[in-house]
Amino acid sequence: MRERPIVTIDGPSGAGKTTVSKRLAQRASLTWLDTGAMYRACALASRRAGIPWSDGKRLGTMCADLAIAFRREGEEVRILLSGEEVSEAIRTPEISMGASEVSVHGPVREAMVALQRRMGEGGGVVLEGRDTGTVVFPDADAKFFLDAHAAVRALRRYREWGPGEGRTYEEVLKDVIRRDILDSTRQHSPLMMAEGAVYIDSTTLSVEEVVDLMLRSIPLPVPRTGEDGKP
Ligand code: C5P
Repeated sequence: MRERPIVTIDGPSGAGKTTVSKRLAQRASLTWLDTGAMYRACALASRRAGIPWSDGKRLGTMCADLAIAFRREGEEVRILLSGEEVSEAIRTPEISMGASEVSVHGPVREAMVALQRRMGEGGGVVLEGRDTGTVVFPDADAKFFLDAHAAVRALRRYREWGPGEGRTYEEVLKDVIRRDILDSTRQHSPLMMAEGAVYIDSTTLSVEEVVDLMLRSIPLPVPRTGEDGKP
């Protein structure tokens, strides 16, 4: 076991990974690494550079030089692209779909995985995404696969931005199903459960219930105590 653990949470869109991993990071004093935000940043950067989401080769070259960073601001974590804050710009339905499209390309994945390993190798981190336990850190100290029924996942997404974007629940459900298919059938790093991962179905569980379940499986370092039993 490492001095500080590496924890991975993978699963389909809308399973609650972001909310759960943020909360877990708070409760277990871990750094939160949202790998989906990195693919989203790649989709945004390619749109701005005029590179089509289908052009894996050019996207791979672009991603290898992409300056992506996270900045903590109180309870929030902001994502920066070449120093510019893009936390909101990467959350539109268009960029969500773009992230699924750019992430099918091998060269894009190689560049992102290399960056994610550099960011997480020191430990004390929770990574959330689609391949964090299968590809990025297969030797993580605790791995989870967070799932929920597709209708519930679509409802969560719809509540998040459906009405604001003028989209119906049915349209959001269609998007969720389309992204599920893209993510789980792609050639490179398809979404699947990592070996040794704990499967959690969040359909009827609250955020705190999911985090409680996870905390029971994470080998967190025990605080040292002196002879008097005090830390
Ligand atoms: O998790 P989020 O919805 O922000 O991820 C956006 C997209 O990025 C996903 O639909 C998926 O296609 C891709 N992704 C990935 N591998 C990851 C994280 C996200 O392919 N580790």
